Amino acid sequence: MASIRQDDLGLARIEKWPLWGRPAISIWYVLAVDLGALAVIAAAFARPGGADLPVVAAAALAVAAFVQGEASRRIERLRRVMSGSVHINMVSVWVFAAVLTLPMSWVAVLTGLVSAHVVLRSYRVQRSYPHRQVMNAAAMVLAAWAARLVLDAGGVPVLTRATALDAVSIGVVLAAAVVFFAVDGVLIAVSLRVDAGRRPLRDLIGSADDNALELATICIGAVIGLVLVYQPFALLFLFVPLFVLHRSVLVKHLEELATKDQKTGLLNVTTWQDLASKELTRGSPFGVLMVDLDHFKRVNDTYGHLAGDEVLKAVAGTVRRSVRDYDSVGRFGGEEFVVLLPGLRDGDVLAIAERIRRAISQLRVPLPSCDTTLSALSASIGVAVYPDAASGVDGLVHAADTALYRAKRAGRNRVVSSLTVYDTRTG
Ligand code: GH3
Ligand code: MG
Ligand code: MG
Repeated sequence: MASIRQDDLGLARIEKWPLWGRPAISIWYVLAVDLGALAVIAAAFARPGGADLPVVAAAALAVAAFVQGEASRRIERLRRVMSGSVHINMVSVWVFAAVLTLPMSWVAVLTGLVSAHVVLRSYRVQRSYPHRQVMNAAAMVLAAWAARLVLDAGGVPVLTRATALDAVSIGVVLAAAVVFFAVDGVLIAVSLRVDAGRRPLRDLIGSADDNALELATICIGAVIGLVLVYQPFALLFLFVPLFVLHRSVLVKHLEELATKDQKTGLLNVTTWQDLASKELTRGSPFGVLMVDLDHFKRVNDTYGHLAGDEVLKAVAGTVRRSVRDYDSVGRFGGEEFVVLLPGLRDGDVLAIAERIRRAISQLRVPLPSCDTTLSALSASIGVAVYPDAASGVDGLVHAADTALYRAKRAGRNRVVSSLTVYDTRTG
Protein backbone atom coordinates (compact mmCIF):
# COMPACT_ATOMS: atom_id res chain seq x y z
CA MET A 1 0.00 0.00 0.00
CA ALA A 2 2.73 2.38 1.04
CA SER A 3 4.72 1.68 -2.10
CA ILE A 4 1.69 2.22 -4.30
CA ARG A 5 1.19 5.60 -2.68
CA GLN A 6 4.78 6.55 -3.26
CA ASP A 7 4.50 5.67 -6.92
CA ASP A 8 1.23 7.53 -7.24
CA LEU A 9 2.82 10.62 -5.83
CA GLY A 10 5.71 10.26 -8.22
CA LEU A 11 8.14 10.52 -5.33
CA ALA A 12 10.09 7.41 -6.13
CA ARG A 13 11.89 8.69 -9.24
CA ILE A 14 12.87 12.28 -9.86
CA GLU A 15 12.20 12.03 -13.58
CA LYS A 16 8.65 10.95 -12.78
CA TRP A 17 7.84 14.00 -10.68
CA PRO A 18 4.57 15.52 -11.87
CA LEU A 19 6.27 18.94 -11.71
CA TRP A 20 8.03 18.25 -15.04
CA GLY A 21 4.65 17.90 -16.71
CA ARG A 22 3.71 21.49 -15.86
CA PRO A 23 4.21 24.44 -18.24
CA ALA A 24 7.85 25.61 -18.41
CA ILE A 25 7.14 28.94 -16.76
CA SER A 26 5.41 27.13 -13.91
CA ILE A 27 8.42 24.85 -13.37
CA TRP A 28 10.74 27.88 -13.28
CA TYR A 29 8.48 29.66 -10.86
CA VAL A 30 8.23 26.71 -8.47
CA LEU A 31 12.01 26.24 -8.57
CA ALA A 32 12.59 29.97 -8.02
CA VAL A 33 10.33 30.05 -4.97
CA ASP A 34 11.89 26.87 -3.56
CA LEU A 35 15.43 28.15 -4.17
CA GLY A 36 14.50 31.54 -2.71
CA ALA A 37 13.33 29.84 0.46
CA LEU A 38 16.49 27.71 0.59
CA ALA A 39 18.62 30.85 0.22
CA VAL A 40 16.73 32.50 3.09
CA ILE A 41 17.25 29.41 5.26
CA ALA A 42 20.96 29.18 4.43
CA ALA A 43 21.50 32.89 5.10
CA ALA A 44 19.58 32.65 8.39
CA PHE A 45 21.71 29.74 9.64
CA ALA A 46 24.91 31.43 8.46
CA ARG A 47 24.29 34.55 10.52
CA PRO A 48 26.24 34.78 13.78
CA GLY A 49 23.94 33.22 16.38
CA GLY A 50 21.53 32.28 13.61
CA ALA A 51 21.41 28.66 14.74
CA ASP A 52 20.71 29.52 18.39
CA LEU A 53 17.48 27.87 19.39
CA PRO A 54 15.14 29.30 22.04
CA VAL A 55 14.34 25.78 23.19
CA VAL A 56 11.23 26.43 25.27
CA ALA A 57 9.45 28.51 22.64
CA ALA A 58 10.41 26.16 19.82
CA ALA A 59 9.38 23.05 21.73
CA ALA A 60 6.10 24.63 22.85
CA LEU A 61 5.26 25.66 19.28
CA ALA A 62 6.20 22.30 17.82
CA VAL A 63 4.16 20.40 20.40
CA ALA A 64 1.17 22.75 20.08
CA ALA A 65 1.25 22.53 16.27
CA PHE A 66 1.50 18.76 16.44
CA VAL A 67 -1.40 18.42 18.89
CA GLN A 68 -3.58 20.82 16.94
CA GLY A 69 -2.70 19.06 13.68
CA GLU A 70 -3.65 15.69 15.14
CA ALA A 71 -6.84 17.01 16.74
CA SER A 72 -8.11 18.51 13.52
CA ARG A 73 -6.80 15.87 11.16
CA ARG A 74 -10.24 14.76 10.12
CA ILE A 75 -11.29 18.33 9.39
CA GLU A 76 -8.18 18.92 7.32
CA ARG A 77 -8.72 15.73 5.36
CA LEU A 78 -12.30 16.61 4.53
CA ARG A 79 -11.21 20.09 3.54
CA ARG A 80 -8.66 18.68 1.17
CA VAL A 81 -11.18 16.35 -0.43
CA MET A 82 -13.61 19.17 -1.01
CA SER A 83 -11.50 22.13 -1.90
CA GLY A 84 -9.39 22.20 -5.03
CA SER A 85 -7.48 25.29 -4.04
CA VAL A 86 -6.53 25.39 -0.41
CA HIS A 87 -6.11 29.06 0.31
CA ILE A 88 -6.75 29.01 3.98
CA ASN A 89 -3.88 27.40 5.69
CA MET A 90 -3.87 26.69 9.39
CA VAL A 91 -0.12 26.26 9.12
CA SER A 92 0.24 30.04 9.08
CA VAL A 93 -0.94 30.16 12.71
CA TRP A 94 2.24 28.41 13.82
CA VAL A 95 4.51 30.00 11.27
CA PHE A 96 3.52 33.52 12.24
CA ALA A 97 3.81 32.71 15.93
CA ALA A 98 7.30 31.40 15.15
CA VAL A 99 8.19 34.61 13.26
CA LEU A 100 7.67 36.49 16.51
CA THR A 101 9.43 34.07 18.80
CA LEU A 102 12.13 32.18 16.89
CA PRO A 103 15.10 33.24 14.76
CA MET A 104 14.44 32.94 11.02
CA SER A 105 16.48 29.74 10.73
CA TRP A 106 14.17 27.88 13.08
CA VAL A 107 11.05 29.52 11.67
CA ALA A 108 11.95 27.80 8.41
CA VAL A 109 12.55 24.46 10.11
CA LEU A 110 9.24 24.68 11.95
CA THR A 111 7.45 25.65 8.72
CA GLY A 112 8.84 22.54 7.05
CA LEU A 113 7.91 20.29 9.95
CA VAL A 114 4.38 21.61 10.40
CA SER A 115 3.66 21.57 6.66
CA ALA A 116 4.99 18.04 6.34
CA HIS A 117 2.93 16.91 9.30
CA VAL A 118 -0.29 18.34 7.87
CA VAL A 119 0.36 16.93 4.41
CA LEU A 120 1.41 13.46 5.55
CA ARG A 121 -1.41 13.10 8.05
CA SER A 122 -4.21 14.32 5.81
CA TYR A 123 -2.91 13.16 2.48
CA ARG A 124 -4.46 9.82 1.77
CA VAL A 125 -7.71 10.96 0.28
CA GLN A 126 -6.56 13.61 -2.08
CA ARG A 127 -3.39 13.27 -4.03
CA SER A 128 -2.18 16.73 -4.63
CA TYR A 129 1.18 17.32 -6.17
CA PRO A 130 4.17 17.13 -3.79
CA HIS A 131 5.86 20.01 -5.64
CA ARG A 132 2.87 22.18 -4.78
CA GLN A 133 3.08 21.26 -1.11
CA VAL A 134 6.79 22.03 -1.08
CA MET A 135 6.19 25.32 -2.86
CA ASN A 136 3.43 26.25 -0.40
CA ALA A 137 5.89 25.73 2.45
CA ALA A 138 8.59 27.65 0.58
CA ALA A 139 6.18 30.54 -0.06
CA MET A 140 5.42 30.60 3.62
CA VAL A 141 9.12 30.73 4.48
CA LEU A 142 9.50 33.72 2.15
CA ALA A 143 6.42 35.37 3.68
CA ALA A 144 7.87 34.74 7.14
CA TRP A 145 11.17 36.27 6.04
CA ALA A 146 9.39 39.37 4.71
CA ALA A 147 7.49 39.66 8.00
CA ARG A 148 10.76 39.33 9.94
CA LEU A 149 12.26 42.16 7.83
CA VAL A 150 9.30 44.38 8.81
CA LEU A 151 9.76 43.47 12.48
CA ASP A 152 13.50 44.19 12.29
CA ALA A 153 12.88 47.51 10.57
CA GLY A 154 10.34 48.40 13.27
CA GLY A 155 12.75 47.48 16.05
CA VAL A 156 10.85 44.40 17.26
CA PRO A 157 13.38 41.68 18.10
CA VAL A 158 12.72 37.96 18.43
CA LEU A 159 10.51 38.03 21.51
CA THR A 160 11.72 36.75 24.85
CA ARG A 161 10.31 37.10 28.30
CA ALA A 162 12.53 40.16 28.76
CA THR A 163 11.15 41.98 25.70
CA ALA A 164 9.07 45.01 26.59
CA LEU A 165 6.46 45.72 23.95
CA ASP A 166 4.80 49.11 23.64
CA ALA A 167 1.85 50.12 21.48
CA VAL A 168 4.14 51.03 18.58
CA SER A 169 5.69 47.56 18.65
CA ILE A 170 2.23 46.04 18.42
CA GLY A 171 1.63 48.26 15.38
CA VAL A 172 4.82 46.84 13.88
CA VAL A 173 3.60 43.28 14.58
CA LEU A 174 0.36 44.17 12.83
CA ALA A 175 2.28 45.49 9.81
CA ALA A 176 4.35 42.29 9.78
CA ALA A 177 1.14 40.23 9.85
CA VAL A 178 -0.23 42.14 6.86
CA VAL A 179 3.03 41.70 4.95
CA PHE A 180 3.09 37.97 5.79
CA PHE A 181 -0.48 37.63 4.51
CA ALA A 182 0.18 39.63 1.34
CA VAL A 183 3.47 37.97 0.38
CA ASP A 184 2.10 34.47 0.88
CA GLY A 185 -1.11 35.35 -0.99
CA VAL A 186 0.72 36.89 -3.95
CA LEU A 187 3.26 34.04 -4.25
CA ILE A 188 0.46 31.47 -4.33
CA ALA A 189 -1.72 33.53 -6.69
CA VAL A 190 1.16 33.90 -9.16
CA SER A 191 1.90 30.18 -8.97
CA LEU A 192 -1.71 29.38 -9.87
CA ARG A 193 -1.64 31.94 -12.67
CA VAL A 194 1.52 30.58 -14.29
CA ASP A 195 0.43 26.98 -13.79
CA ALA A 196 -3.06 27.15 -15.20
CA GLY A 197 -3.16 30.27 -17.34
CA ARG A 198 -5.75 33.00 -17.20
CA ARG A 199 -8.28 32.42 -14.45
CA PRO A 200 -10.76 34.67 -12.67
CA LEU A 201 -9.08 36.73 -9.95
CA ARG A 202 -11.18 34.99 -7.33
CA ASP A 203 -9.69 31.64 -8.27
CA LEU A 204 -6.22 33.09 -7.78
CA ILE A 205 -6.57 35.01 -4.55
CA GLY A 206 -9.61 33.31 -3.04
CA SER A 207 -12.87 34.92 -1.96
CA ALA A 208 -13.19 37.74 0.58
CA ASP A 209 -14.25 35.10 3.12
CA ASP A 210 -11.19 32.97 2.39
CA ASN A 211 -8.94 35.95 2.91
CA ALA A 212 -10.71 37.05 6.09
CA LEU A 213 -10.18 33.56 7.48
CA GLU A 214 -6.54 33.52 6.49
CA LEU A 215 -6.09 36.88 8.22
CA ALA A 216 -7.85 35.46 11.29
CA THR A 217 -5.41 32.56 11.44
CA ILE A 218 -2.46 34.97 11.25
CA CYS A 219 -4.00 37.13 14.02
CA ILE A 220 -4.29 34.06 16.21
CA GLY A 221 -0.69 33.30 15.33
CA ALA A 222 0.28 36.77 16.60
CA VAL A 223 -1.57 36.17 19.87
CA ILE A 224 0.07 32.77 20.22
CA GLY A 225 3.47 34.35 19.69
CA LEU A 226 2.81 36.97 22.34
CA VAL A 227 1.36 34.49 24.84
CA LEU A 228 4.11 31.98 24.23
CA VAL A 229 7.01 34.03 25.52
CA TYR A 230 5.29 35.06 28.71
CA GLN A 231 3.46 31.85 29.62
CA PRO A 232 3.61 28.88 27.21
CA PHE A 233 0.95 26.96 29.15
CA ALA A 234 -1.54 29.71 28.35
CA LEU A 235 -1.51 28.29 24.81
CA LEU A 236 -4.06 25.82 26.12
CA PHE A 237 -6.66 28.60 25.95
CA LEU A 238 -6.14 28.91 22.22
CA PHE A 239 -6.75 25.30 21.24
CA VAL A 240 -10.52 25.49 21.33
CA PRO A 241 -10.78 28.75 19.31
CA LEU A 242 -8.35 27.29 16.78
CA PHE A 243 -10.30 24.08 16.49
CA VAL A 244 -13.55 25.99 16.01
CA LEU A 245 -11.96 28.28 13.44
CA HIS A 246 -10.63 25.31 11.54
CA ARG A 247 -14.03 23.65 11.63
CA SER A 248 -15.72 26.83 10.42
CA VAL A 249 -13.53 26.67 7.32
CA LEU A 250 -14.86 23.19 6.70
CA VAL A 251 -18.43 24.33 7.25
CA LYS A 252 -17.87 27.06 4.69
CA HIS A 253 -16.69 24.51 2.15
CA LEU A 254 -19.70 22.34 2.92
CA GLU A 255 -21.96 25.33 2.37
CA GLU A 256 -20.31 26.06 -0.95
CA LEU A 257 -20.69 22.44 -2.01
CA ALA A 258 -24.32 22.41 -1.02
CA THR A 259 -25.22 25.62 -2.82
CA LYS A 260 -22.94 25.94 -5.81
CA ASP A 261 -22.45 24.20 -9.10
CA GLN A 262 -18.86 23.05 -8.95
CA LYS A 263 -18.06 23.48 -12.60
CA THR A 264 -19.24 27.03 -13.10
CA GLY A 265 -19.39 28.42 -9.57
CA LEU A 266 -23.00 29.45 -10.22
CA LEU A 267 -25.82 28.48 -7.86
CA ASN A 268 -27.06 24.94 -8.17
CA VAL A 269 -30.69 24.33 -9.14
CA THR A 270 -31.95 23.67 -5.62
CA THR A 271 -30.46 26.85 -4.22
CA TRP A 272 -31.70 28.88 -7.17
CA GLN A 273 -35.20 27.46 -6.70
CA ASP A 274 -35.09 28.29 -2.98
CA LEU A 275 -34.18 31.88 -3.79
CA ALA A 276 -36.94 32.07 -6.39
CA SER A 277 -39.46 30.73 -3.83
CA LYS A 278 -38.35 33.39 -1.36
CA GLU A 279 -38.74 36.03 -4.05
CA LEU A 280 -42.26 34.79 -4.65
CA THR A 281 -43.23 35.43 -1.03
CA ARG A 282 -42.36 39.11 -1.44
CA GLY A 283 -45.13 39.48 -3.99
CA SER A 284 -43.30 41.95 -6.25
CA PRO A 285 -42.87 41.24 -9.94
CA PHE A 286 -39.69 39.50 -11.06
CA GLY A 287 -38.29 37.92 -14.17
CA VAL A 288 -37.07 34.40 -14.87
CA LEU A 289 -34.74 33.68 -17.79
CA MET A 290 -33.85 30.29 -19.20
CA VAL A 291 -30.65 30.55 -21.23
CA ASP A 292 -29.55 27.65 -23.45
CA LEU A 293 -26.45 27.64 -25.61
CA ASP A 294 -27.08 26.98 -29.27
CA HIS A 295 -25.58 23.89 -30.83
CA PHE A 296 -23.32 23.36 -27.87
CA LYS A 297 -22.88 19.75 -28.75
CA ARG A 298 -20.86 20.88 -31.76
CA VAL A 299 -18.36 22.60 -29.45
CA ASN A 300 -17.83 19.33 -27.60
CA ASP A 301 -17.69 17.34 -30.80
CA THR A 302 -15.16 19.70 -32.38
CA TYR A 303 -12.90 20.64 -29.48
CA GLY A 304 -13.60 18.00 -26.82
CA HIS A 305 -15.44 18.07 -23.53
CA LEU A 306 -12.69 19.84 -21.60
CA ALA A 307 -12.83 22.75 -24.04
CA GLY A 308 -16.63 22.57 -23.72
CA ASP A 309 -16.24 22.98 -19.99
CA GLU A 310 -14.07 26.07 -20.50
CA VAL A 311 -16.78 27.53 -22.69
CA LEU A 312 -19.41 26.77 -20.06
CA LYS A 313 -17.34 28.55 -17.41
CA ALA A 314 -16.81 31.55 -19.66
CA VAL A 315 -20.50 31.77 -20.51
CA ALA A 316 -21.42 31.43 -16.82
CA GLY A 317 -19.10 34.34 -16.03
CA THR A 318 -20.58 36.39 -18.87
CA VAL A 319 -24.15 35.83 -17.68
CA ARG A 320 -23.11 36.68 -14.11
CA ARG A 321 -21.45 39.91 -15.21
CA SER A 322 -24.41 40.92 -17.37
CA VAL A 323 -26.79 41.14 -14.42
CA ARG A 324 -26.92 43.00 -11.10
CA ASP A 325 -25.18 41.70 -7.97
CA TYR A 326 -28.45 40.75 -6.34
CA ASP A 327 -29.79 38.85 -9.35
CA SER A 328 -29.39 35.09 -8.95
CA VAL A 329 -27.79 33.02 -11.69
CA GLY A 330 -27.94 29.23 -11.52
CA ARG A 331 -26.87 26.31 -13.66
CA PHE A 332 -30.05 24.49 -14.49
CA GLY A 333 -28.56 21.59 -16.40
CA GLY A 334 -25.77 20.86 -18.87
CA GLU A 335 -25.57 24.07 -20.87
CA GLU A 336 -28.70 25.71 -19.51
CA PHE A 337 -28.67 28.59 -17.09
CA VAL A 338 -31.47 30.20 -15.11
CA VAL A 339 -31.56 33.82 -14.02
CA LEU A 340 -33.78 35.42 -11.39
CA LEU A 341 -34.30 39.16 -11.81
CA PRO A 342 -36.07 40.58 -8.74
CA GLY A 343 -38.20 43.70 -8.96
CA LEU A 344 -38.32 43.93 -12.74
CA ARG A 345 -41.24 43.95 -15.16
CA ASP A 346 -41.58 42.83 -18.77
CA GLY A 347 -39.64 45.54 -20.59
CA ASP A 348 -36.65 45.57 -18.21
CA VAL A 349 -36.49 41.77 -18.07
CA LEU A 350 -36.43 41.57 -21.85
CA ALA A 351 -33.74 44.25 -22.00
CA ILE A 352 -31.53 42.25 -19.65
CA ALA A 353 -32.17 39.05 -21.60
CA GLU A 354 -31.09 40.91 -24.75
CA ARG A 355 -27.98 42.17 -22.97
CA ILE A 356 -27.07 38.59 -22.01
CA ARG A 357 -27.71 37.30 -25.51
CA ARG A 358 -25.53 40.01 -27.00
CA ALA A 359 -22.75 39.49 -24.45
CA ILE A 360 -22.65 35.75 -25.22
CA SER A 361 -22.59 36.43 -28.96
CA GLN A 362 -19.58 38.75 -28.46
CA LEU A 363 -17.77 36.35 -26.16
CA ARG A 364 -14.36 35.07 -27.18
CA VAL A 365 -13.10 32.05 -25.28
CA PRO A 366 -9.38 31.25 -25.57
CA LEU A 367 -8.81 27.49 -25.82
CA PRO A 368 -5.03 27.18 -25.41
CA SER A 369 -5.14 23.38 -25.50
CA CYS A 370 -6.70 23.56 -28.99
CA ASP A 371 -4.57 26.52 -30.00
CA THR A 372 -7.61 28.56 -30.94
CA THR A 373 -10.06 31.16 -29.69
CA LEU A 374 -13.70 30.29 -29.92
CA SER A 375 -16.10 33.00 -31.01
CA ALA A 376 -19.49 33.11 -32.68
CA LEU A 377 -21.22 31.45 -29.77
CA SER A 378 -24.88 32.12 -29.36
CA ALA A 379 -27.67 31.39 -26.94
CA SER A 380 -31.44 31.28 -27.03
CA ILE A 381 -33.28 32.77 -24.10
CA GLY A 382 -36.82 32.16 -22.85
CA VAL A 383 -38.37 34.83 -20.61
CA ALA A 384 -41.18 34.57 -18.07
CA VAL A 385 -42.33 37.32 -15.73
CA TYR A 386 -44.14 36.92 -12.42
CA PRO A 387 -47.10 37.21 -11.94
CA ASP A 388 -48.23 37.37 -15.59
CA ALA A 389 -46.68 34.11 -16.80
CA ALA A 390 -47.38 31.87 -13.79
CA SER A 391 -47.93 32.04 -10.05
CA GLY A 392 -45.35 29.49 -8.86
CA VAL A 393 -41.64 28.84 -9.39
CA ASP A 394 -42.19 25.62 -11.33
CA GLY A 395 -44.79 27.33 -13.52
CA LEU A 396 -42.44 30.21 -14.24
CA VAL A 397 -39.55 27.91 -15.11
CA HIS A 398 -41.86 25.90 -17.34
CA ALA A 399 -43.10 29.07 -19.05
CA ALA A 400 -39.52 30.29 -19.61
CA ASP A 401 -38.57 26.84 -20.91
CA THR A 402 -41.48 26.79 -23.34
CA ALA A 403 -40.49 30.25 -24.59
CA LEU A 404 -36.93 28.96 -24.96
CA TYR A 405 -38.09 26.16 -27.20
CA ARG A 406 -39.99 28.65 -29.31
CA ALA A 407 -36.75 30.62 -29.62
CA LYS A 408 -34.96 27.45 -30.73
CA ARG A 409 -37.64 26.59 -33.26
CA ALA A 410 -37.64 30.12 -34.59
CA GLY A 411 -33.97 29.81 -35.52
CA ARG A 412 -31.94 30.28 -32.25
CA ASN A 413 -29.79 33.21 -31.10
CA ARG A 414 -32.85 35.12 -29.92
CA VAL A 415 -34.94 36.11 -26.91
CA VAL A 416 -38.57 35.02 -26.76
CA SER A 417 -41.05 35.99 -24.07
CA SER A 418 -43.61 33.50 -22.74
CA LEU A 419 -46.55 35.86 -23.01
CA THR A 420 -46.00 38.55 -25.56
CA VAL A 421 -45.04 38.01 -29.14
CA TYR A 422 -41.64 39.52 -28.36
CA ASP A 423 -38.82 38.04 -30.32
CA THR A 424 -35.33 39.49 -30.74
CA ARG A 425 -35.76 39.54 -34.47
CA THR A 426 -39.10 41.33 -34.42
CA GLY A 427 -38.28 43.57 -31.42
P1 GH3 B 1 -29.49 23.32 -29.18
O1 GH3 B 1 -29.13 24.53 -29.96
O2 GH3 B 1 -30.71 22.64 -29.68
O3 GH3 B 1 -29.59 23.62 -27.74
O4 GH3 B 1 -28.29 22.30 -29.42
P2 GH3 B 1 -27.34 21.74 -28.34
O5 GH3 B 1 -26.29 20.93 -29.05
O6 GH3 B 1 -26.82 22.82 -27.47
O7 GH3 B 1 -28.33 20.91 -27.47
P3 GH3 B 1 -28.33 19.50 -26.82
O8 GH3 B 1 -29.24 19.58 -25.64
O9 GH3 B 1 -28.63 18.46 -27.85
O10 GH3 B 1 -26.86 19.27 -26.30
C1 GH3 B 1 -26.39 19.82 -25.15
C2 GH3 B 1 -24.99 19.33 -25.04
O11 GH3 B 1 -24.40 19.88 -23.89
C3 GH3 B 1 -24.89 17.84 -24.87
C4 GH3 B 1 -23.77 17.63 -23.94
O12 GH3 B 1 -22.70 17.00 -24.59
C5 GH3 B 1 -23.35 19.01 -23.54
N1 GH3 B 1 -23.10 19.15 -22.13
C6 GH3 B 1 -23.97 19.05 -21.12
N2 GH3 B 1 -23.35 19.23 -19.94
C7 GH3 B 1 -22.05 19.45 -20.21
C8 GH3 B 1 -20.89 19.70 -19.44
O13 GH3 B 1 -20.93 19.78 -18.20
N3 GH3 B 1 -19.71 19.88 -20.08
C9 GH3 B 1 -19.63 19.80 -21.45
N4 GH3 B 1 -18.45 19.99 -22.01
N5 GH3 B 1 -20.69 19.57 -22.20
C10 GH3 B 1 -21.88 19.39 -21.61
MG1 MG C 1 -28.22 23.86 -26.25
MG1 MG D 1 -29.84 22.18 -23.56
